[in-house]
Amino acid sequence: MFYLLNILIQMKIILNNSILRKTLGPFNDIGFVPTMGGIHEGHISLIEKSIKSNKKTLVSIFVNPKQFNDIKDFKSYPSNIKNDLTILKKIKKLDFIYIPKFKDIYEDKKKSQIKIKRKDKILCAKYRIGHFEGVLDVMNRLTTLIKPKKIFMGKKDFQQLYLVKNFIEKKFNIKVIGCKTVRNKNKLALSSRNLLFNKQELNEVEKISKTFLNLRNKTKSINNINRFLQKLKKDLERFFNIKIEYLENRNIKNLTISNKYLKSKIFVSYYYKGIRLIDNF
Ligand code: AMP
Repeated sequence: MFYLLNILIQMKIILNNSILRKTLGPFNDIGFVPTMGGIHEGHISLIEKSIKSNKKTLVSIFVNPKQFNDIKDFKSYPSNIKNDLTILKKIKKLDFIYIPKFKDIYEDKKKSQIKIKRKDKILCAKYRIGHFEGVLDVMNRLTTLIKPKKIFMGKKDFQQLYLVKNFIEKKFNIKVIGCKTVRNKNKLALSSRNLLFNKQELNEVEKISKTFLNLRNKTKSINNINRFLQKLKKDLERFFNIKIEYLENRNIKNLTISNKYLKSKIFVSYYYKGIRLIDNF
């Protein structure tokens, strides 16, 4: 009975920084999973990975307004803390859930000097001006507050992982671990934004996603992959009634344009029904 009770009260919800500091003080082996809520199996896979390789695991839920370049996107971002807690409470060995307020994260009022390099202003950075500056700023603040040993992030947001890993590992003595993209049974990458679609729209997004995924195999025997993708772009836009921002094959180590099949990935961003989706495969 006491054992059961112990499991039940093991997980702690932290709502402000003074409790955060007191609670995390004694621990030096924390795995950290930053999220913006809308918890799904993709997030859970990161949490499970952290639980396996760290003594303590902390998940944060914070929709960071400073990384949204579009106020409409921020306002419509699916947020349901009650639902998130119901899901997270079922994860047995999860230790801490940190749900800060804006003032907790930005208690240090100094304006961030973080800038993205010119060579990195590609893919999402080219279309979401200021987005990654906001991401790096919040990750810098969260890392300073939490002092984790490892941070777990998804390859679903490959460019985010690439930029955060480069920035954080240079500044702090910790590791940023990239984790595999989790997809549903129809191969659609799980995303909190999928909650914004109705059933019929979700079916259509799954078809679009499958078509994109099949492209990867097709590029195996193609000489100039990026020319091929550029030619295809218009047809895909017309056929699916989508707007593609970018569809590019890039090297996975440094994200430069690549026309080779090996050591590369296709990166896509598109709008369907006004909602922006990204994927890489
Ligand atoms: P978000 O809540 O969308 O900011 O995502 C929080 C973390 O979960 C980020 O590191 C994402 O890359 C990761 N993530 C989101 N979707 C997936 C997915 N389908 N599979 C694996 N990781 C994911």
